[in-house]
Amino acid sequence: VGNFDQHEFQAETAELLNIVAKSLYSENEVFIREIISNASDALEKLRYTRLTSQEAMAEDVPLEIHIKTDKYNNTFTIQDTGIGLSREDLTNNLGTIARSGSKEFLKNVSEKGDANSSIIGQFGVGFYSTFMVGNEVTVYTKTHDPDSKGHCWKSKGGVSYEITEAESVKPGTKIVVLLKPDCRQFAEEDTVEKIISKHSAFVGFPVRLNGKLLNTVQPLWTLEAKDIDEDQHLKFFRHLSANDSEHYMYKLFYKTDAPLNIRSIFYISEQRPTILEMSKDTTGRSGVSLYSRKVLVQHKTEHLLPKWLRFLRGVVDSEDIPLNLSRELLQNSALISKMRETLTSRLIKFFLDQSKRDPEKYLQFFRNYKLFITEGVLAEDMQEKREEVAQLLRYESSSLPEGEVTGLKDYIKRMKDGQRNIFYLCAPSRNLAETSPYFEALKGKDVEVLFCYDPYDEITMLQLKMYDTKQLFSLENEVLADMFQPNKDKESKPGLENEPVVTTQLSESQGKDLTDWAKAALDVKVTDVKVTDKLDKHPAMVTVWEMGSVRHFLKSQYLTDP
Ligand code: ADP
Ligand code: MG
Repeated sequence: VGNFDQHEFQAETAELLNIVAKSLYSENEVFIREIISNASDALEKLRYTRLTSQEAMAEDVPLEIHIKTDKYNNTFTIQDTGIGLSREDLTNNLGTIARSGSKEFLKNVSEKGDANSSIIGQFGVGFYSTFMVGNEVTVYTKTHDPDSKGHCWKSKGGVSYEITEAESVKPGTKIVVLLKPDCRQFAEEDTVEKIISKHSAFVGFPVRLNGKLLNTVQPLWTLEAKDIDEDQHLKFFRHLSANDSEHYMYKLFYKTDAPLNIRSIFYISEQRPTILEMSKDTTGRSGVSLYSRKVLVQHKTEHLLPKWLRFLRGVVDSEDIPLNLSRELLQNSALISKMRETLTSRLIKFFLDQSKRDPEKYLQFFRNYKLFITEGVLAEDMQEKREEVAQLLRYESSSLPEGEVTGLKDYIKRMKDGQRNIFYLCAPSRNLAETSPYFEALKGKDVEVLFCYDPYDEITMLQLKMYDTKQLFSLENEVLADMFQPNKDKESKPGLENEPVVTTQLSESQGKDLTDWAKAALDVKVTDVKVTDKLDKHPAMVTVWEMGSVRHFLKSQYLTDP
């Protein structure tokens, strides 16, 4: 039949098509993302050849993507003015599975024996995803070479496709999908418009839907910071957070070329996250998506940032990231680790800068996001950067008026000669902290004490242990006189060998009688009872070694245990 050619799909392709065509995958709308991204790739390739080839291109067609929905014929059509495919390309690229994503998909299906789960969405099956929604797919294509011929590729899925030469095909590629009866929604303009704005908002080329120009959300991260005004930022932020009334309190525009190419933009919402939002997605999904040259690599990317930074909304684009980076690769990639490392340090520095620039605003941020920051100090994956994150913590202190806060770094700057510890006291309120026997026991020492009001602060301090080589020390431990004496660098376990200096108004035998009685009465609940001169107002206090927080748990046990 002259130029008519019937071909068999490569075995793997046929297998993939079979799985995809039968799939009941509920998010089959991703086929739109896949073919838009193919069109965008084709346009990018054309732009590149135009820039690099010696021969001048014959014509200067605009680089665009046109999508048409047709309810009467039940079709979805996409046309691009991109690089196009030769006859050979058609057999090589649409008849065989070249892309690694599709191969991995197949491997996964055969391992799990289930194609209807979300794995289609995870891997993206590229061009073949059109067969999830279409009974027949037709591709008209022609390259920009003036001597080239146009071709038509057609398949109903199954095991074969046909290629014919075709007249009056414009340079570029047009794909017509004849929709399955239960996929008629993709012939509806409104539906398609929503899908495009969800999955393909930042395509680098104009996208027209039935003539209407769509992608009006500019990929802000590709511009220069100085060229972006607040209005654009707000629009972009609302696009990312899918909320049209939210405002952001901070934004960070970060660009670097070393150690990696990174163009990124981050926002922090003014709105305090709800408990629900704080607890959900602890699995590691971030609010930040990964792009490579404006093409989405992964939405809400795992591992790109440590978990505790999941309150950020944003975009990271890197030319160093291959487009077909699969989930497994993302997880194990040295590239992603490097990127996480760089971004995390930059973000911590950003918050520190903000705390200096506008401490009041920072305090508002800290109050809203304290749980996340605490999680950052405690997290397994933050061990190496624990002290870095700890710099973001803020506490009231005995040296500052109520309502004012300090960080650990500033506390250390104010430390007196000879003070080797950072002192803190956990209490439910300022008043209870200042009237507690622990605070009283420090009288005359002129030492600053951080007040920790949230129950989990204590865990944070215990876990942190040290900051800038200074040991964090709870006042519920026994505070010793020599902790404030200069020039005694002896690393001493407080109180074990160094007995406190005691001058008591009780006689020695009175003191002994009292402590003997107390020891007998308290029995195993105490390890020792001593007379102290540290208290004026309180008759007695309980001190603990290290595990201060354990006391809270023990207390409730003793209360129920007669
Ligand atoms: P991938 O995009 O990952 O390579 P796809 O299955 O999406 O895999 O596409 C397979 C191949 O088909 C592409 O690599 C490309 O060569 C070709 N192709 C698909 N769509 C187009 C298009 N609109 N213009 C030119 N070539 C295309
Ligand atoms: Mg593709």
